[in-house]
Amino acid sequence: MVQSSVLGFPRIGANREVKKAVEAYWGGKQSADDLTKAAADVRKTSWTSLKERGVDLIPSGDFSLYDHVLDHSAAFNVIPKRYLGHNLSPLDVYFAMGRGRQADGVDVPASEMKKWFDSNYHFVVPEFSEETDFKLLFNKAVEEFKEAKAAGVATRPVVLGPVSFLVLGKAAKEAKPGFQPISLLPKLLPVYKQLLSELKAAGAQWVQVDEPILVLDVAANHISAFQDAYSQLVPVAPSIMLATYYGRLDANINIVSKLGVAGLHIDLDRAPQQLAPVLEVVKSTNLILSLGLVSGRNIWKNDIAASVKLGQQAIDVIGSDRVIVATSSSLLHTPVTLANEKKMSAENKDWFAFALEKAEEVATIAAVLSGSQDAKVTAAFEANKASIAKRREFERTSDDAVRKRVAAITPDMLNRKSPFAVRKEVQKQKLQLPKFPTTTIGSFPQTKEIRTARAKLGKKEITEEEYNEFIKKEIQSVVAFQERIGLDIFVHGEPERNDMVQYFGERLNGFVFTENGWVQSYGSRYVRPPIVVSDVSRPGPITVEWSKYAQSLTQKPMKGMLTGPVTILNWSFPRADVSREIQCKQLALALRDEVIDLENAGISAVQVDEPALREGLPLRKVDWEAYLSWALPSFKLATAGVTDALQTHSHFCYSDFDDIFTSIQDLDADVISIEASKSDLKLLNTFKQYGYSNQIGPGVYDIHSPRVPSEQEIKDRIAAMLQTLPADLLYINPDCGLKTRGWKETEASLDNLVKAAKWARETY
Ligand code: GLN
Ligand code: ZN
Repeated sequence: MVQSSVLGFPRIGANREVKKAVEAYWGGKQSADDLTKAAADVRKTSWTSLKERGVDLIPSGDFSLYDHVLDHSAAFNVIPKRYLGHNLSPLDVYFAMGRGRQADGVDVPASEMKKWFDSNYHFVVPEFSEETDFKLLFNKAVEEFKEAKAAGVATRPVVLGPVSFLVLGKAAKEAKPGFQPISLLPKLLPVYKQLLSELKAAGAQWVQVDEPILVLDVAANHISAFQDAYSQLVPVAPSIMLATYYGRLDANINIVSKLGVAGLHIDLDRAPQQLAPVLEVVKSTNLILSLGLVSGRNIWKNDIAASVKLGQQAIDVIGSDRVIVATSSSLLHTPVTLANEKKMSAENKDWFAFALEKAEEVATIAAVLSGSQDAKVTAAFEANKASIAKRREFERTSDDAVRKRVAAITPDMLNRKSPFAVRKEVQKQKLQLPKFPTTTIGSFPQTKEIRTARAKLGKKEITEEEYNEFIKKEIQSVVAFQERIGLDIFVHGEPERNDMVQYFGERLNGFVFTENGWVQSYGSRYVRPPIVVSDVSRPGPITVEWSKYAQSLTQKPMKGMLTGPVTILNWSFPRADVSREIQCKQLALALRDEVIDLENAGISAVQVDEPALREGLPLRKVDWEAYLSWALPSFKLATAGVTDALQTHSHFCYSDFDDIFTSIQDLDADVISIEASKSDLKLLNTFKQYGYSNQIGPGVYDIHSPRVPSEQEIKDRIAAMLQTLPADLLYINPDCGLKTRGWKETEASLDNLVKAAKWARETY
């Protein structure tokens, strides 16, 4: 019998119950007990609905009120000192670690958050030092296992593995120089032993231990850590299903096959090619192999016939009792259910599977592989074949003109007409900018009034004309403000945009949107990624009218503002039938037309944001080149269609450039702006060391905080930057867009920024 399994389930609730409960608790509108109850309800619903869909191995312990890595840190007493001693309940300490706390005399910032592997989910980074005193403060795995049991559902608990826990963490500030978290493994293992033996005593037969770092290059440095850890854990734990996901094991299969664990889960969605080599190793062991056939990362209906074929390949080698059919990873990256999509067309709906539908898919695949003659299984399989055939038919008849245009891209379309040195002079003439030009990253405060107007338009409480008038007024006031404080390159403020990706998706052909397709990005922040369903093209200009209008209000250059092709793609659910390269190039061509139209409309600077360029880097270094070989040309394709006089800008919301420095240079944007205020100026040394040759605006203050930087602070910042960067390349701007800020601090901060720039002009 082939069993079916789900590695983890969305924890937000089908109707975002967890967000609502958590935020109500934060706002003091609900008690901790109410929150606990709401969370328990969501867990129970998840377990029972997975059971109803016929899943054999149902996860527990994967639920979280904020982040599962944070849960793990809190349970293991990995709590930085700054959160303690404030008389907070454990729950409030937990939230303080996740999001900071500023109330009743307590003022502690949030812990660092990082992107979880190559996804748009963020985890709270554990902080370790020599002082870390691991203790099991509570056994979440046991608690939730028992809770599920009481609800009539036998589960397979999920625990983050010890090696990944340490390697994903960082050295705390107080740690000695050179401290490596992995050195704590001997101290950590007794606590894991306690956790796992308690789980066994509670009656768990299996436990899923996640070691996702096994798909990273870094795992090779930790072979002995894996060996030490599992030789100690296996004897005391329930049967361990060692789970790897988001990529391929490659040579690491040789480590894991000898760890003595009972089972191994591999991701066959991201890396179907690893099945054969893994089987080759596994066949001479007793390992149970869990096949991640149903994607935990995308929202496309599984091609069950294809999955059955792969599953059969495994059965032929190791027999059906040693094969489990599973989701490729946790389903945390997918929305809860298609059942909540009331407005989506039947045709579109038939293409997709969200978390609950995916659970059904694993159950069906397992049943087919077990030779089930059940009429329901046969019907589900047949229905799937029909849906897949219809989708394939749609794919074939997608937009031929777009595909031809992509095929006709020539190398000269990727490069500007002249090199930067020439463009710089032409632009200098045209833009008449002072030394150290000042500008902002695009958005100005998205006030309550703006959000209300947008919501009213959505509900048809105001007309399109009324809304447009409202947006025009916003633009007028943003322009007047910039005029008043004396910035050099203006922006229109982006009041018309709900989101930097969705806004463009909604105005391009080839996207579908959900009503309720929320996925967790971090904490209580959920996003609703657009879905690319067919060839992408631009039915008409998107931003041109707004930029033109904004430009008409001022003599100063107005910067057009677009989201780049790589970022639009990385923050959407991509198609599964054509490569990301093709999709990105289609987006790039659409944006290229937009940039050209902006220039023709009299706009003299255009910014194309690529904050997601870096997070799209593949997990293994050998794959980087393949990604960059289309990601970089896509940006260039979007921006190179204009004359030398158009000043292109790009923006990146991170400060970690070491790995992709040459790529940033290759983009050949006339000006880039980057986050720099929180990093020490080491970042600028990277730019100096590599000899970055185009213009650059390292952010002079942190926009993530309402704090107003003083004029002196900004002057000091500029002076420090000029130690490293040539004066004729420096731009002066904040770290990122201002949409989450209030007007008061925005005015004060930008006023200081402009004054500091004036000082710099006189001083240097
Ligand atoms: N132009 C965007 C803004 O200012 C950039 C946002 C981002 O980089 N994430 O809001
Ligand atoms: Zn940014």
